[in-house]
Amino acid sequence: MRKVALIGNIHKDGIKILKDSKFDIIEITNYSFENLRKELKNVSAIALRTAELPQEVLKECKSLKIVSRHGVGYDNVDLSFLNKEKIALAITGAANSVTVAEHVISMFFSLCKFSKTSDHLVRMGKFNQKQFIPDSMEIYHKNIFIIGFGRIGKALAKRCNGFDAKVYVYDPYIESKTIKDNNCFSISFEEGIKIADFISIHLPINEKTKYLITKKELSQMKKTCILVNTARGGIIKEDDLAWALQNQVIHSAGLDVFEEEPPKENNPLLNVDNLILSPHSAALTLACRKRMAVETCNNIVNYLNRSKDLILSNIVNKDILKIN
Ligand code: NAD
Repeated sequence: MRKVALIGNIHKDGIKILKDSKFDIIEITNYSFENLRKELKNVSAIALRTAELPQEVLKECKSLKIVSRHGVGYDNVDLSFLNKEKIALAITGAANSVTVAEHVISMFFSLCKFSKTSDHLVRMGKFNQKQFIPDSMEIYHKNIFIIGFGRIGKALAKRCNGFDAKVYVYDPYIESKTIKDNNCFSISFEEGIKIADFISIHLPINEKTKYLITKKELSQMKKTCILVNTARGGIIKEDDLAWALQNQVIHSAGLDVFEEEPPKENNPLLNVDNLILSPHSAALTLACRKRMAVETCNNIVNYLNRSKDLILSNIVNKDILKIN
């Protein structure tokens, strides 16, 4: 019987797909490299959440055919090793793009409407002191700057256009026609950060995007700018963001992702007020967890069974594997 390892919890609807296809399932809860090397020796497939899979673990996986990520980011897997060994890497395509886009919108609104402060005021019996809530803002007719126009960037743009905002996009890898067809405007990164009322980041982290936003860029933003990062920690330099928020260089920020997860107790951001945080949970609605689990497991079953139902666009390294 072929073995599949589940590294991290996934919704039972996904597990059912593996069981129905007669896979032997190994659930792994100890993510130490030593344990992973031992447990993954004979597996054909891995369904992976956020644990790290470096070469030192992967090189022991002698039967491995596919790593299927529950999500779209894959910075926790050594892709070049998978390519070398002709092991497939799958992601869950568009399963979470709307969910993350909605999370961004929820952060935009909480921040521009001072939801935390308003809630606190009422609970403290200060209902009649609403004049102490700073001027709240609307998204209507504001400039939204989306950095990275892939699945999530596009889903966010659609929603922002629904609020009659003006949506600007920076993504040098996307044709300007695509940006225009989505009712958005192309803009340079330098210009975008200057004119934006709201900024949202939707990029992978790599050597080009690490510390894309530092003191220098924060200083060029409007004082009223709201900045949200649900992509990956490290695209914004956290120390610089803490400085910008503490000194009202920008209005406020929302973060779902951190340079180190979980953030350390002494992370300066944890003491900043004009900031809303979530624990890398932007995609974790129940509906989205189900979609991701089902897609993660379908990717495994369809790939191993060479099924015509395989969603090719979910396979990151299909060029190397020469599948079409
Ligand atoms: P995607 O691959 O569809 O889109 C990424 C876009 O970024 C692409 O259009 C690409 O052209 C663009 N890009 C790459 N490098 C760039 C650069 N230097 N400058 C400008 N644009 C650049 O990915 P996606 O599904 O939209 O996901 C975006 C990010 O969100 C990823 O980092 C992913 O890991 C993260 N994510 C986070 C969560 C969460 O739970 N917080 C959930 C899903 C995705």
